[in-house]
Amino acid sequence: MSTNHELFQRALQRLPGGVNSPVRAFKSVGGEPFFTARADGAYLWDVEGTRYIDYVGSWGPMVVGHNHPAVREAVERAVKDGLSFGTPCPAEVTMAETITKLVPSVEMVRMVNSGTEATMSAIRLARGATGRAKIVKFEGCYHGHGDSFLVKAGSGALTFGVPTSPGVPKASADLTLTLPYNDLAAAQALFAEQGDDIAGLIIEPVAGNMNCIPPVDGYLQGLRELCTRHGALLIFDEVMTGFRVALGGAQVLYGVTPDLTTFGKIIGGGMPVGAYGGRRDLMEQIAPSGPIYQAGTLSGNPVAMAAGLAMLELIQVAGFYDTLAARTRLLCDGFQLVADEAGVPFSTNRVGGMFGLFFSAEQVSSYAQATTADTALFNRFFHGVLKRGIYLAPSAFEAGFLSSAHSDQDIADTLQAAREALAEAKG
Ligand code: PLP
Repeated sequence: MSTNHELFQRALQRLPGGVNSPVRAFKSVGGEPFFTARADGAYLWDVEGTRYIDYVGSWGPMVVGHNHPAVREAVERAVKDGLSFGTPCPAEVTMAETITKLVPSVEMVRMVNSGTEATMSAIRLARGATGRAKIVKFEGCYHGHGDSFLVKAGSGALTFGVPTSPGVPKASADLTLTLPYNDLAAAQALFAEQGDDIAGLIIEPVAGNMNCIPPVDGYLQGLRELCTRHGALLIFDEVMTGFRVALGGAQVLYGVTPDLTTFGKIIGGGMPVGAYGGRRDLMEQIAPSGPIYQAGTLSGNPVAMAAGLAMLELIQVAGFYDTLAARTRLLCDGFQLVADEAGVPFSTNRVGGMFGLFFSAEQVSSYAQATTADTALFNRFFHGVLKRGIYLAPSAFEAGFLSSAHSDQDIADTLQAAREALAEAKG
């Protein structure tokens, strides 16, 4: 059997940075990643047999815990009938009906294969439908790796200090206007100047790629009004928040209706799935009912649809989100207590089943504040809890995720590990 170290050495020879997605490489926190052999419920086991209580959840999809029997069995049943057909299949229709039922602003939906594809397609639709070229995004928000979005992006890009990636043509970056998150006056000023050229504004309604930052009161409503007034489309990127912060996503939680919404992560139940949807008059402009082209060989894949549908069944159980939010609160309050006991400046944010931990005395509501938190202390803390069997996201700029599989005992064990790790990390 190979060790984590041996596998990483082999990986480094053949995969850029040893990984297939940058943040997995632990560059930001230092050290080497572990290689997961299997996952179940709240836990991951690495190839050396070490168990971790997992707060990454495959970066969001695993809201019912890993390897849930209902999801696994749905996949097993679907696989028996074939892996991909290239024709329409019944599960796609059920998926579209389920999403449109759960998210009222979405009247029609198109399935794709990742969150990146969903956001790229939504922007094309916004441009095609409005005949305008510019888009607005927010500093520290991440919408996948499409050219238009790798401008002041969060998450991996923020971790690596690459605000705009080489390879993004200037002509493309110039069409992306950026704003500070949670600052309505800045958005009003930009729209006053360039509102008539703006096709759409895309936002994570709860920011989850500069750690976790909820919108301040009235902010999303204010953006809605601005977009309506200037004829720009409001696009909620709910790839992370969809079915994570509430059943209908952040838009239901905050009572704001976007024109378009993008999804990913949870709707695939762990399979590679994304989707975008919204107003019928907009979605009908997508090919083949309209002229705006977008397609996919594997889109609406029957196995992926089966996994997603099983997942969407599980989260509709009464009280699911209340319990998830209560557990998340227990965890965050516990972290706060541990930090207070240790005399370490610390704050948390949380919405539904997502949370953020900040080594900062301030309650963080902006990108600027998030980037001034003590990342060196976070990195020592990360390794301290990791060696005690707790897996937090390996970057100070990622949100954490809880699942319905995390028990009170898992949370108590996590807080004990945090207590010990913090005593060590604060030096
Ligand atoms: N949008 C948001 C808000 C995300 O968090 C992510 C990924 O983390 C994406 C889009 C991109 O999704 P994917 O990694 O599936 O391409």
